[in-house]
Amino acid sequence: MAKKWVYKFEEGGADMRNLLGGKGCNLAEMTHYLHMPIPHGFTITTEACTEYYNNGKGLTKEITDQIEENLKWLEEVNGKKFGDPDDPLLVSVRSGARASMPGMMDTILNLGLNDVAVEGFAKKTGNPRFAYDSYRRFIQMYSDVVMEVSKSLFEKEIDDVKAKKGIKYDVEMDVDDLKELVKRFKKIYKDALGKDFPQDPQDQLMGAILAVFRSWDNPRAIVYRRMNDIPGDWGTAVNVQTMVFGNKGNTSGTGVAFTRDPATGEKGIFGEYLLNAQGEDVVAGVRTPQPISTLEQAMPDVYKQFMELATGLENHFHDMQDMEFTIEEGKLWFLQTRNGKRTAQAAIKIACDLVDEGQIDEKTAVTRIEAKSLDQLLHPVFDPAALKAAKKIGSALPASPGAAAGKVVFTAEDAKEQGIGGKGDRVILVRLETSPEDIEGMNAAQGILTVRGGMTSHAAVVARGMGTCCVSGCSDITNIDEEKKEFTLAGITFHEGDYISLDGSTGNIYQGDVATKEASVAGDFARVMGWADKYRRLKVRTNADTPRDAKKARELGAQGIGLCRTEHMFFNGNRIDAFREMICSDTVEERKKALAKIEPYQEDDFKQLYEAMEGDPVTIRFLDPPLHEFVPQTEEDIEKLAKTQGKTVQQIKDIIAGLKEFNPMMGHRGCRLAVTYPEIAEMQTTAVIKAALAVQKAHPDWNMVPEIMIPLVCEEKELKFVKKTVTDTADKLIAEAGSDMKYEVGTMIEIPRAALTADEIAKDAQFFCFGTNDLTQMTFGFSRDDAGKFLDSYYENKIFESDPFARLDTDGVGKLMKFAVDNGKKVRSDLHCGICGEHGGDPSSIEFCDEIGLDYVSCSPFRVPIARLAAAQAAINHEN
Ligand code: ADP
Ligand code: MG
Ligand code: MG
Repeated sequence: MAKKWVYKFEEGGADMRNLLGGKGCNLAEMTHYLHMPIPHGFTITTEACTEYYNNGKGLTKEITDQIEENLKWLEEVNGKKFGDPDDPLLVSVRSGARASMPGMMDTILNLGLNDVAVEGFAKKTGNPRFAYDSYRRFIQMYSDVVMEVSKSLFEKEIDDVKAKKGIKYDVEMDVDDLKELVKRFKKIYKDALGKDFPQDPQDQLMGAILAVFRSWDNPRAIVYRRMNDIPGDWGTAVNVQTMVFGNKGNTSGTGVAFTRDPATGEKGIFGEYLLNAQGEDVVAGVRTPQPISTLEQAMPDVYKQFMELATGLENHFHDMQDMEFTIEEGKLWFLQTRNGKRTAQAAIKIACDLVDEGQIDEKTAVTRIEAKSLDQLLHPVFDPAALKAAKKIGSALPASPGAAAGKVVFTAEDAKEQGIGGKGDRVILVRLETSPEDIEGMNAAQGILTVRGGMTSHAAVVARGMGTCCVSGCSDITNIDEEKKEFTLAGITFHEGDYISLDGSTGNIYQGDVATKEASVAGDFARVMGWADKYRRLKVRTNADTPRDAKKARELGAQGIGLCRTEHMFFNGNRIDAFREMICSDTVEERKKALAKIEPYQEDDFKQLYEAMEGDPVTIRFLDPPLHEFVPQTEEDIEKLAKTQGKTVQQIKDIIAGLKEFNPMMGHRGCRLAVTYPEIAEMQTTAVIKAALAVQKAHPDWNMVPEIMIPLVCEEKELKFVKKTVTDTADKLIAEAGSDMKYEVGTMIEIPRAALTADEIAKDAQFFCFGTNDLTQMTFGFSRDDAGKFLDSYYENKIFESDPFARLDTDGVGKLMKFAVDNGKKVRSDLHCGICGEHGGDPSSIEFCDEIGLDYVSCSPFRVPIARLAAAQAAINHEN
């Protein structure tokens, strides 16, 4: 028997989403099982879409035959013929993938009209105005959507016709105006495409169906899929449905409604409709729609029926519904329902309310909230009233979310001096662009605004890591002057101390001090997080380099630190001086002297991290980056260093030149530093162990087991070598202290060779932590910083679907991870494994980590709640 490529609505159901798409399967559910008023129709499956691509972008005869068959059926049930000059059957052609995808093809309405049929249609309905309105809409949509003739050409003609008559709204156009528009539209079509507007309804229909399939791969759709983790091989379905008409006069209309408020989650039907209108008129803003409540007066019976059916839909799907409906001469039709998109705040309230109403259980509630969306709740927001009154002066890239207001400062030093930790002001750091030396100032600021730089610029990346609001790349700023301490935006010159406000979630910039509200994990949010914690297996740790980050992460539920990058502490205060002395030493003695200055700083930092984590595990990674990143850049700094070290400026410059590498990311870094300079590892071990001993003493009830992590290992003997320095140092200190404290030495797995030799490495490592940033970089053989130059071509040509640095490449990098976990555990059954790359905070990557049996994921503080929720969702999905 031939494969079934087309399903009537009465043949499908909500459980056939993969095959029928979201729109199709719910239309089927409403028709087949709920017996609701749905115009007849059928769905061409997503498999037909895949077949279209396999078939060199064409449809097989088997598929077109089935479409014909179903069209015949549609004619029969409606008692109308497609293309009938007296009483034509009209249909809509609607795309619909498994997941809703706004990047794809728009819907085409009134398909089946032509120059002859429109006349018959006018006579039959006794409403020529309506007939021509439908025809001009059809030409407009078909040209735009199927043939890609620019929308604006049509809009221009509409405006022209209205202007000539001196009318404002589309509904004021009479039949002659509409006939005129039809003429002009057909001319636009012909001018643009060199052929007449298709008159054969069969051609129109096939053209539209093919256009839907084609739209699956348009650039917008590809970008949307990448952003939303939708696989390219899903394909879209096509729905062909009998038209019902909301544009038949004032007893007709069209609308959209939600069963709960998508912004707040408040229960209650919430929606809008427009009389005498069709399709997207409601959302397109051609006239101001009316709130649904007014329908009660206008059409009480329709209103009552609508309320009953809408409530029924919610009870049926056990979730907030987003519905589209049309009223044709007093008769209500439903055209779509789906689980409504909502803000994170609404998602949480709705999930909790549905649990309380007994509609869903806790586990279902946990799966209802998009983990990534929690980001919206974790940063300060503007007070809505204050925002309304605020004056917007510009907008740029929303580089790091949150709202911030403060006094303008222009340098990192000023930010520090005047900020909360200094004079106590809230400050906004405004820079041309930021550099690593600005870290402290960025840390002290409430928000960061840069003139240059994109979403992955230094400012953006660092700000996101710190959870600080950042708006970047505001090229509208002119005359930024660090010396004079001023800049100009929107014609206003701002001086140091003037207030501005930034919205890092939208990129908007406001004049003045707009009031903000702090975010907290409380109320319903806390309740959902409690459920997440109950059902997840993976532990969630944080990547934290400073006590401030650690405290924040703890508040957000971190169960330890998975990665502390010790080098990030070296920029604080005058520590960098001691660090530079260490780098620019030429003898072991000199180096040890400099290291001795650094040790107490590190010890103190580690103590604070341990305190923040209250006895939970803290993994300290030893020095990792290439040293040249820390050398002095300015003449002044070089001179200063030369003086403290009793060297000449030239000697320092020679040392700096000697540190230059051709390929620093693959150069002298990671544990290679500890192999060359064991005294660095010795110092860091001393700091870790002494800090842990002190904290253990202060908190006898905590069970301190410090974890030392050796980065960038590729060979077991290399790890063994460094580990010996660590254990010699640590054992001695612990013995001297008369303590029996345990500690662990583990390694990062971030070089493919380490993963491949995991069984060897596990002999010396008590834990593995996957550094998936480097592991991805080394597995693919291209760097994160350079990939931006070519990844777009890879997406366009469908070589890659997503950025492997954002979403874990489970096929390659993931395979290495799984191999390493399995083989490591063969040698050491209690080996514990985690991940601490950027992927540790990415929900789809977390799902994979759960699958391969990692013990924990570690991510930046503000991602901790996201990871907790994603870990629970992974566990629940796993179980199902
Ligand atoms: P989208 O996926 O963009 O929401 P739809 O396929 O839902 O696109 O179509 C958009 C709108 O077009 C619907 O909300 C509805 O108002 C109108 N529409 C679609 N099909 C029909 C139909 N058969 N009869 C009347 N209106 C329709
Ligand atoms: Mg719709
Ligand atoms: Mg690394």
